[in-house]
Amino acid sequence: MKEAFTYEDMKLIGREKLGNQVPLELFRTIRLIGLHQALPMGGKGTTVTIGRKIGESLPVSTLEDILALFEELQIGIPKIVYQDEHKLRIVVEECFCKGLPVMEGKMVCDLEGAILEGALHKISKDKVAVREVKCNVSGDEHCEYEVRYMR
Ligand SMILES: [Zn+2]
Repeated sequence: MKEAFTYEDMKLIGREKLGNQVPLELFRTIRLIGLHQALPMGGKGTTVTIGRKIGESLPVSTLEDILALFEELQIGIPKIVYQDEHKLRIVVEECFCKGLPVMEGKMVCDLEGAILEGALHKISKDKVAVREVKCNVSGDEHCEYEVRYMR
């Protein structure tokens, strides 16, 4: 008997009428009202744990794979806007949070950053840390992550 789910299992969909889609408002509700508002401190430590685990489970072996999957899963459209030996800057256009009311100083896409971190960790031998530096919800023009490699 199977003991644990894999990412591949998630694609086994047996719904005939409703198919493989759920509305964005459900995803947002789980993310922002469920995780962000229900957990202490906006879910800080918990979302990192969840996100990393998800990221590590993804079927990726290159940075390009990760970015393509981010778009395929409709989390957003990621673009690398800066890259050097130690650092990456990734802008996410059309992030799932786009269009939500602005709340000054609030960045809500920490889980997606942690997913990115987990996925990058999976494909890199170096330690990697992802930090959310911009978010639509805090009034920025897009969401953005800073990736640092500890080499
Ligand atoms: Zn966002």
